[in-house]
Amino acid sequence: MPAIKFRGVDFLQFDSLLTDEERLVRDTTRQFIEDNLVPIIEECNRAGRFPRELVKPMGELGFFGASLKGYGCAGMGNVEYGLMNQELERGDSGVRSFVSVQSGLCMYPIYEFGSEEQKHKWLPAMQKGEKLGCFGLTEPDFGSNPGGMRTRARKVGNEYVINGEKMWITSGSIADVAIIWAKVESENDRIRGFLVETDRPGFTADDIHGKWSLRASVTSGLSLQDVHVPESNVLPKSGGLKSPLMCLNQARYGIAWGAVGAAMACYDCALQYSLLRKQWHDQPIASHQLVQDKLTWMISEITKAQLLVLQVGRLKDAGKVEPQHISMAKRNNVWMALECARLSRDILGANGIADDYPVMRHLMNLESVKTYEGTHDIHSLIIAQSVTGIDGF
Ligand SMILES: Cc1cc2nc3c(=O)[nH]c(=O)nc-3n(C[C@H](O)[C@H](O)[C@H](O)COP(=O)(O)OP(=O)(O)OC[C@H]3O[C@@H](n4cnc5c(N)ncnc54)[C@H](O)[C@@H]3O)c2cc1C
Repeated sequence: MPAIKFRGVDFLQFDSLLTDEERLVRDTTRQFIEDNLVPIIEECNRAGRFPRELVKPMGELGFFGASLKGYGCAGMGNVEYGLMNQELERGDSGVRSFVSVQSGLCMYPIYEFGSEEQKHKWLPAMQKGEKLGCFGLTEPDFGSNPGGMRTRARKVGNEYVINGEKMWITSGSIADVAIIWAKVESENDRIRGFLVETDRPGFTADDIHGKWSLRASVTSGLSLQDVHVPESNVLPKSGGLKSPLMCLNQARYGIAWGAVGAAMACYDCALQYSLLRKQWHDQPIASHQLVQDKLTWMISEITKAQLLVLQVGRLKDAGKVEPQHISMAKRNNVWMALECARLSRDILGANGIADDYPVMRHLMNLESVKTYEGTHDIHSLIIAQSVTGIDGF
């Protein structure tokens, strides 16, 4: 079977809804991924290796903090930012996760809640990829309900002393700075964000091994034992659970686009494969109605997902997006992508489980994407709360 090369997916003239700048960002990212990530990703996935050599070139292309303005950031519109995520995840969800964490979960809170001094110190270096960040919200005992967190910060003189454990933290052991969310004892357990340099005494990060998903991304557990940080390391405008949730909204928006990319990769691979693979009467398997039904389902759902996330992006640009809009896009598109990955794997038969093709890797990656940044079911509750007015948590 000859090698299958991605050709892009556009059933409903989706491109005609994009500006020239938006198409340029999409095409530039697509080319970068094709030239730099596609040739190495299967080896990285097998080895459980994050392709760190791509950090600097991604910084040079403006991928980090791409939607932020100033401090060296690219100042992209939200649809440009989304299309960039789509192409990154077409390459690999783990690499897209790295960019999402660096941008939406680390640079964004510094930009939104940080002091001018903090912004100048971190944002230009993070934009270039010279400094890496991680986002510590989830704990061993609290994931969907981060308000239950046990990590605490105690004020002692001009410092805070932080104690706690964080779990499932993307980029934890490669980060220079961790955004740690903790309850502040002297503020009635109000949740605040802290910039914690990872070389501070008492801070340790240990990687989680044995993952069958996001193998090209670093995932760590963090331990903070009496970690001292100066007062100036608090993100001054952070306050309450709303602050980390605002960060999650940023990242969830990128994920909703990213999932379209993973779905496109699987669908296009299955389509090409089904036209080449012959079993009966010297006809391609694409000629059988049951295979055609799977391809029809995929192209229909990908097309609907593109339109959904484009509208959410346009609302975001207009300052009119609500958290439930982003929840709908994340929930629908990740579910859709996972179904596409499963159907594509089926169409590829035995070849579907091998890493000569990207499908099984996407399938396994998407299992994490379905869980993190609010599980599928947590997004059901957010959407339902917005239409019923009733909290179902
Ligand atoms: C690869 C990977 C990378 C990650 N990176 C980060 C990171 O960088 N930073 C970070 O802070 N976190 C990160 N996470 C953690 C992620 O956000 C959590 O796993 C997620 O929030 C779910 O929490 P949990 O795993 O504790 O599951 P739980 O909250 O224990 O949920 C288990 C199940 O119960 C369901 N459930 C829970 N509550 C309800 C309810 N009220 N009603 C109905 N069903 C419910 C859930 O939907 C789920 O199906 C990462 C996770 C993974 C897998």
